[in-house]
Amino acid sequence: MTVQVLDVGKETVDYLRDESRKEGHAEKIVFPESRNEVVESLQMATQKGWPVTLQGSRTGITGGCVPEGGLILNLSRMNAVGEVEDRRLSVQPGALLSDIYSVAQAEGLFFPPDPTETTASIGGMVATNASGARSFHYGSIRNWIQALEVVLAHGETIRIERGVHQAKGLDFQLGKIKGTLPRLKIPEVKTAAGYFVKPDMDLVDLFIGAEGTLGVVTEIIIKLWPLPKKRVGLVSFFPSEEEALDFVIFLREAGSSISPIAIEFLDDQSLELLRQTPSDLLELNPDFHTAIYFEYEGDVPNIVVEKAGEAIDCWIAESDHELDVLKQFRHAIPEAINQLIADRKRVKLGTDMSVPDGQLKKVMQLYRKGLAEAGLEYVIFGHMGNNHVHVNILPHSLAEVETGKVLYLDWAKQIIKMKGSISAEHGIGKLKIEFLELMQGREGIHKMRKLKQLFDPDRLLNPGNLF
Ligand SMILES: Cc1cc2nc3c(=O)[nH]c(=O)nc-3n(C[C@H](O)[C@H](O)[C@H](O)COP(=O)(O)OP(=O)(O)OC[C@H]3O[C@@H](n4cnc5c(N)ncnc54)[C@H](O)[C@@H]3O)c2cc1C
Repeated sequence: MTVQVLDVGKETVDYLRDESRKEGHAEKIVFPESRNEVVESLQMATQKGWPVTLQGSRTGITGGCVPEGGLILNLSRMNAVGEVEDRRLSVQPGALLSDIYSVAQAEGLFFPPDPTETTASIGGMVATNASGARSFHYGSIRNWIQALEVVLAHGETIRIERGVHQAKGLDFQLGKIKGTLPRLKIPEVKTAAGYFVKPDMDLVDLFIGAEGTLGVVTEIIIKLWPLPKKRVGLVSFFPSEEEALDFVIFLREAGSSISPIAIEFLDDQSLELLRQTPSDLLELNPDFHTAIYFEYEGDVPNIVVEKAGEAIDCWIAESDHELDVLKQFRHAIPEAINQLIADRKRVKLGTDMSVPDGQLKKVMQLYRKGLAEAGLEYVIFGHMGNNHVHVNILPHSLAEVETGKVLYLDWAKQIIKMKGSISAEHGIGKLKIEFLELMQGREGIHKMRKLKQLFDPDRLLNPGNLF
């Protein structure tokens, strides 16, 4: 045995939680430094019957890496980043997004997925099918994964490559595992809710977004893209939400030649929170009600410049430094929310749902009405290009937490009726199981469990995630 098995105690107590603030429990923890040590750890867990919880950087917000007893398998020390070859980069799962950005940039390339939090690990991002602002144009991380190496629960290693390992209809074989994929309801919107399956699929996609329930990702080959010669970031401030939403619809509908690569939204409460957060970032005038951040690669089309001119004000960032300031401005919101929730010692109630284009205004009305009637404090921000905002309820009391939960459940039901997804990018983890069941029905959950059983017959991996 080469991997060191540690008892979970005072020094390792941080490994019992993630950014959701959910707290778990575990007896043992390992920090493998190689695939062999992952295999060894899994074989030991199988022998002892320990459940295993996988961890990357623990920036997840659905409790996915929060353990429910047994062994924590933390992959942060497997963080090597290889060399770029033919716009491909091989990385270990613990590599941080910030490290990948640096290596790619040195080669005049970039990695399009940008889930805001650059300390996230690539293994965690693969497991949650993460996305971010630029996913409006570039799609989720799924589009940028060429191949995976995965260690299955009993220690078998499989390598799966896009374009090579594919299902035949719904039948598939991977290593020694042969099976039939279930038919599941997958909405035609941005989604990270449960297993991704479709006939003739690339089997690598089965593991992307599976939240560590099918195997441990131990190596990833990512695809990179040429760095654009020019990037321009803009923030337009509107006097009302209605006008801001009309601007989003204009950006989306005026044709692909003027479409930006990102469209982000900050509501009046987000701007208010930023005004109250001590920072030397840009100053927000009191008449700014709602903000839309949007980004271009290359020049901003004239028609957009004219339309943006109708807003109260528009900030433009063209240099790397100016773009960084705008990014920090955007990132300051989830960070301020997390701080506020931590200060209030409350759980975070944050939505992650998306709807089809035609339902954008309807879903915003649904949120506003529910929040106003319940009298809750909140902020709404997020990836408006994909009709995907995060409504963050900021409860003052346990009673408000309960009111917020009831509201959240009602929204989930309405969003399923609108053919949306109950999780667009954060995944289900341990906090949204009820919503996944609403979306997939009991039968869908049963089919997913059966699929998991093929890869993990003793149900050792990430118990409590998804179902
Ligand atoms: C301020 C802030 C902003 C954020 N913004 C975004 C955003 O814009 N978009 C977005 O998508 N997310 C966002 N997130 C959420 C989070 O950063 C992502 O979910 C991220 O992908 C998690 O990566 P991680 O390394 O921290 O994973 P963890 O939190 O450690 O784990 C997440 C899940 O992946 C599993 N896992 C981890 N490593 C492996 C592995 N090697 N093999 C198999 N399973 C594994 C875990 O078991 C768990 O289920 C944000 C988080 C914060 C704190």
